[in-house]
Amino acid sequence: DYATINSLDRELFVGHSQVRDGLQDGKLLIHDTLKRRIEEIDTDGCRPGEEDAFFVADMGEVYRQHLRWKLNLKRVKPHYAVKCNPDTEVLRLLAALGTGFDCASKAEIEQVLALGVDPSRIIYAQPCKTKSYVRYAAAQGVKQMTFDNADELYKTKAHFPNAELFLRILTDDSSSLCRLSLKFGASLDCTNDLLQLAKDLDLNVVGVSFHVGSGASDPQSFAKAVQDSRHVFDQAARIGFDLKTLDVGGGFSGDTFESMAHVLSDALDEHFPPGVRIIGEPGRYYVSSAFTLACNIIARRDIQDPATRQTSYMLYLNDGVYGNFSSIIFDHQHPYPRILSKQEHDDKGRSTEYSIWGPSCDGIDLISAACTLNGVLDVGDWLYFEEMGAYTRCSATKFNGFTNSHDVLYVSSEPGASALLDYHP
Ligand code: PLP
Repeated sequence: DYATINSLDRELFVGHSQVRDGLQDGKLLIHDTLKRRIEEIDTDGCRPGEEDAFFVADMGEVYRQHLRWKLNLKRVKPHYAVKCNPDTEVLRLLAALGTGFDCASKAEIEQVLALGVDPSRIIYAQPCKTKSYVRYAAAQGVKQMTFDNADELYKTKAHFPNAELFLRILTDDSSSLCRLSLKFGASLDCTNDLLQLAKDLDLNVVGVSFHVGSGASDPQSFAKAVQDSRHVFDQAARIGFDLKTLDVGGGFSGDTFESMAHVLSDALDEHFPPGVRIIGEPGRYYVSSAFTLACNIIARRDIQDPATRQTSYMLYLNDGVYGNFSSIIFDHQHPYPRILSKQEHDDKGRSTEYSIWGPSCDGIDLISAACTLNGVLDVGDWLYFEEMGAYTRCSATKFNGFTNSHDVLYVSSEPGASALLDYHP
């Protein structure tokens, strides 16, 4: 039960130092696991696909991110954005930790409900929904959902009049990696009309939501969005709604989290009294650093510079932008290669230039245009890439006949996470 989970949490919750020490333990554990797996693979004799790229996922890292969240954003109850990485083990751990879930489709809602999560812990955070999905949410009792336009209100009236609605407002997301406000969010000059229409339709508006853009980098965008939300709360009150919840969306990343959280917490305390429930929809924050990807070098092409007589190499891996490196295209990432294993050469570990390519026949399938690694890598050697947990597997395709369901080896560098993985809500 949640009381037990919470006390367990408190016991393990010894502050920042645990988070930092755990991170080092986690990296070692991941590295060991990667090494052990590739030692079992003989690329000269294995069956097709046995040398496929694979992930190692450290559930302890997801757990530590949760502790870090609780340490820095006490008021905000996270609703993990399933779209970011719908890995069942991640969802199970977060369910056990008591988070909520942000779902954006029928399949995501179904996946979370199948874990035994109560529908009240789900927000259907997609302002432009499919009608049949709205009926599905209604039938399942998933009441919380977002809207940002009048048509969506008419749709809700017709298909789920008792829904608990959050008005999603526009934010300044210009400093983010993936802008969302180009597509979603009501501007402040139309929120009053939307609230009035909701009132006229006798709909139930319960809160305001926003998203400052995925991979946001300017903490002030949170401050401004919270201030704007206060304005909409006050508008709603004048129209006769008693809003109870503010949803601060996602946009958090591991490396800037503390500064974002600090600005956000201050803004919340300034504009929202303790009685207002605050939720968030973090995605990448929870999973990015938990997943590491190992790839095999399947081919190599040598390039001679006629002027300098230096050799550089084009390396071809068995995963690319049509696969788990889809994050390069869709999420504007620059995954960085590291050497996992390499055959012995008399190369004296000299720094060598590479470009790194995926396995498909398309020229766009480029992982890194230029990078320097120590030594000369060869066909059969392995590279690994850290920070591969967010917006990677979920948008991988089967283009050219390559698989998009790579093995995941789960490990846990936190005993607390291991215990919770056996928990069934
Ligand atoms: N909530 C909504 C509505 C989103 O569209 C997204 C991402 O696109 C998220 C949450 C998760 O964002 P992030 O991964 O940046 O935390």
